Amino acid sequence: MLDATPKKIVERTSGGMINPAKTCQPIGAMYAALGIHRCLPHSHGSQGCCSYHRMHLTRHFRDPVMASTSSFTEGASVFGGGANLKTAIKNVFEIYDPDVMAVHTTCLSETIGDDLPTIIKQAEMPEGKVVFHANTPSYQGSHITGFSNMTKAMVTYFSESTLLEKEDRVNLIPGFVNPGDMREIKRIAAMMEIPCIMFPDTSGVLDSPMTGSFQMYPEGGVTLPELKKTGDSKLSLALGRFASSDAAGTLEKKCKVPAITLRTPIGIKATDAFVMALRGAFAMEVPRELEEERGQLVDIMTDTHFHFHGKKVAIFGDPDIVAAMVEFSLSLGMQPVHVLTGTPGGALGSGMAGFEEEIKELLSAAGLNGNVKSAGDLFTLHQWIKNEPVDLLIGNTYGKFIARAEDVPFVRLGFPILDRSVHSYLPVVGYHGAMRLIEMISGALLDRQDRDAADEDFELVM
Ligand code: SF4
Repeated sequence: MLDATPKKIVERTSGGMINPAKTCQPIGAMYAALGIHRCLPHSHGSQGCCSYHRMHLTRHFRDPVMASTSSFTEGASVFGGGANLKTAIKNVFEIYDPDVMAVHTTCLSETIGDDLPTIIKQAEMPEGKVVFHANTPSYQGSHITGFSNMTKAMVTYFSESTLLEKEDRVNLIPGFVNPGDMREIKRIAAMMEIPCIMFPDTSGVLDSPMTGSFQMYPEGGVTLPELKKTGDSKLSLALGRFASSDAAGTLEKKCKVPAITLRTPIGIKATDAFVMALRGAFAMEVPRELEEERGQLVDIMTDTHFHFHGKKVAIFGDPDIVAAMVEFSLSLGMQPVHVLTGTPGGALGSGMAGFEEEIKELLSAAGLNGNVKSAGDLFTLHQWIKNEPVDLLIGNTYGKFIARAEDVPFVRLGFPILDRSVHSYLPVVGYHGAMRLIEMISGALLDRQDRDAADEDFELVM
């Protein structure tokens, strides 16, 4: 299907994208909003945007994603969507009865310039109900920017500092990861007996069990009282600087909660950093069970090292996941030779180094020098692979076209994964998640070795 991709790389002067490695801001905003208990995300734009965003999330999580829309038509496009949003707020509370509505903008409402804070202030809403918003213009950034903007809005609207002394509790900002990952991050904090508030938290929302009865608002999600209390916590840990550091930084400014930004805890080093940050801040010992999990991981890494050593790998997807996966690949002895994200630049507003600098630093510390690009597309990645073939491709579902065209083993990681199931329930973070990744990667590599082996080399023990 990608037969026409040429090997020769020609610098593009028009700035066009071919098969972008990202999607639009509101998808991230909608996902983040679902991590608040009894919250209905609301898309301030046309019905098509909302349908696409819901469908994309539903296909990845295989759980129904609820959201409402301002349903722009020609009139709203010309005169603005204020009247539509006010009607929507009234109708949504009357009919669907959420506690919170999380409004995000779209390309159209941003282009019109709708003043959401004023419209929301003027809207009629029942006592005790809340509407908040995030600006998510889709012609900037990516779904990760949208996730970050909505998470930051939770702080701007809700966090309060009410106590002279902070409480012994950590705010965990998990970034755009699956509900299974969020559960695992909370499990590690619970093992260390450290109270936490995770926001957003889609565990129990998008991985809720089948009970036989439909629940518009499942049990999970951070509650509004918890969001308010984030301003009284002792520490915020932003896991993944692109998706989470903006919210943690805003909370630090607003409520003086110290913030530490770490990599998404994928792989042994990033998980160690997460555990040590908790240990350092709360003076808690690492429990024996967690040490045991780490020891098992080290044992597995040692046992399987020869499967990975020197293997060339291409990694693409969301910047926080990719950065952590590059670090883990290096720990396994692999060589990440092509690394690409569709999300542009550094973490917005963070003042930190960009994605390319971060990855190049990781590679150069390992004595490597690969192709690295932010705001890239899958066409570029494919051309790189044509010029320097790899043993393995790691990324979201869209990588399957390149994997097929170039006959490369493929491991699915990140968002979206539309052609496989169960992935959103099982973690890739923490020591357990790292074991799972090793199983996935070595399985893909050894399946390929089996497929290509001559009869005399077809081994039972590998
Ligand atoms: S890119 Fe803009 S117009 Fe297209 S779906 Fe996203 S928000 Fe809607």
